[in-house]
Amino acid sequence: MRKNLFMLEELQELDLKIDGRQGERQALLDQMAELDRQVEEARIAVDAKRSELALLEEEKQGLEANLITEDDNIARSEVRQKEIKTQKEYQAVVKEITAARKLKGELEEQILQKSAQSEELAADIAARETDLNSLEENMATRKAEVQDGLERIDRELAADAAAKETTTKAIPASLIKRYQALRERRQGIAIVEARAGSCSGCNMNLPPQLYNSLFRGDDLVLCPHCQRMLLVRQDVQ
Ligand SMILES: [Zn+2]
Repeated sequence: MRKNLFMLEELQELDLKIDGRQGERQALLDQMAELDRQVEEARIAVDAKRSELALLEEEKQGLEANLITEDDNIARSEVRQKEIKTQKEYQAVVKEITAARKLKGELEEQILQKSAQSEELAADIAARETDLNSLEENMATRKAEVQDGLERIDRELAADAAAKETTTKAIPASLIKRYQALRERRQGIAIVEARAGSCSGCNMNLPPQLYNSLFRGDDLVLCPHCQRMLLVRQDVQ
């Protein structure tokens, strides 16, 4: 049993190393997703601004079309003005022209406002596009680094898996099963040292008679408190 327990301890060290690497791997994957998300967010913002600009331009064109209509109205009224016979009719046309000119002035004012807004928005979009380009370049560099990290971890994990396979083969399958079940229930630590009278897994004191079995090393001894497998190093006691 003693030899098996030391092999199990070795296996556990490998498993803990693998757990650590997998955690590291997941962190890198999360980083990668976060980099993609940042670029996507900036891209969506630029697209939204572009839609805003298109709408603004459309509104401006509508106003410009209205302006042309008012110009036509004024021109027509002016033609009619020349053919008018009565004072009453004349006043009505003057009133029409005045109203149309007023409207025209308002439209021109609105068009100027839209033009100013368009210019501002276009400048904002240009700045965002520049930012987006440098963000994309930046992210590409960082993603390449993360990718290198992932490849390194995958190579290490492959080496660990090979070492784990060799170690696992040297231990009876039934013991491996118990070890794995315990690991799941005990935060990855299934086998611990009994040291200076206590379990190094839960730090509780161990009954002295338990040490006799431990030193004999014939049977599997579990900590009565945390149920982890115990092993003892004779030279340390
Ligand atoms: Zn314990």
